[in-house]
Amino acid sequence: MDSSLTFPMDLVRPDLHTFGGYSSARTSFAGPLASIWLNANEAAEPNSVDPDGTARRYPQPQPAALRAAYAAYLGARGDQLLLARGSDEAIDVLVRALCRPGSDDGIIVCSPTFGMYAVSAALHGVPVHDVPQQDRGDRFVHDLSAVAHTVRSTGARIVFIASPGNPSGSVVEVEAVLGLVQAVSDIAMVVLDEAYTEFSGELSAIPDLDQHPTLGVLRTMSKAHGLAGARVGALVAHPDLIAVLGRVQAPYPMPAPVTEMAVRALEQKVLTQTAERVTSTVHRRDRLASIVASHPGVRAVYTSEANFVLARCVDTDQVIRDVAAHAIAIRDMRHLPGLHDAVRVSVGTDADLDALAAAQGARPDPEPTDTTSERTR
Ligand SMILES: *Cc1c(COP(=O)(O)O)cnc(C)c1O
Repeated sequence: MDSSLTFPMDLVRPDLHTFGGYSSARTSFAGPLASIWLNANEAAEPNSVDPDGTARRYPQPQPAALRAAYAAYLGARGDQLLLARGSDEAIDVLVRALCRPGSDDGIIVCSPTFGMYAVSAALHGVPVHDVPQQDRGDRFVHDLSAVAHTVRSTGARIVFIASPGNPSGSVVEVEAVLGLVQAVSDIAMVVLDEAYTEFSGELSAIPDLDQHPTLGVLRTMSKAHGLAGARVGALVAHPDLIAVLGRVQAPYPMPAPVTEMAVRALEQKVLTQTAERVTSTVHRRDRLASIVASHPGVRAVYTSEANFVLARCVDTDQVIRDVAAHAIAIRDMRHLPGLHDAVRVSVGTDADLDALAAAQGARPDPEPTDTTSERTR
């Protein structure tokens, strides 16, 4: 492994190269190890709702125990990780650090895709360039040479690619992503969002980071780990970039009770349970796909490597109303480009899927059918 490749600092906003960020009591205390902490105006005694005092003190900006545990789970080194309040915050910090606000330093997205990339760009006042995916009827395919061309013609600084994609469920091969990384490495970062990678047969790009300093990988504990409410995610990238982003991020992003929960979720016995949940979710995804496909108002269900399926409808309003009448919420996707007739349905429990099947008037099917997913890719 060669970790000597350097990060091209000219990808970072020039005004942030020497930006020190907020100097907190935690980060600025430089003396020998203290045992009495009177430097942060914290309460002297814990609150009764916090008898262990976990939350009495400001947390470490990047809690060492969580960084080490998450890095070990991801097969990364601690200095490659920026822990964040969900990968949403990591996306936002990336946009703010690499794009000069109000300038042409834009981002590239490939519709239909996750909405937060464009939201962060809009809030930061930088342009969003869309290079639409190609709809192959059963999956969406990225046009990566068009992406490379658009990077050059627009001067975009970040390309966001989700694989498996949301809402498509389609994957992009890591080899192809690495080709794009190389093709634009002089002017842009490529950020691969692996939010759903645990549900997929495609490999992670994390092992490739050392050879590709301008690649970043987003991961989250919101999906496979079942901790969406805790808000824990990470960017995995070159240590020099991670150091810059840490200064751009909010001062104490990781709440202590959240960190404690996330560390427990990364203990081996819990990870074993998580892996079992992922396996059964993947089985139920096949069943979900056949239930959705059996609705008379649905005309196509896309192959998915995530924990949801995307479907196109003959009458989208009717499909949404049918299931809503049985108190089942599915996601209307018609606001996204190219998806004027689409819904997205998450994999629920077996009971949830029974209810969905009943709502559609289909017969509950207890056996997983294996017609729709491609586990071999
Ligand atoms: C759900 C999702 C995330 C996760 O966001 P968090 O902020 O970590 O909860 C990131 N990217 C994609 C594509 C998603 O669908």
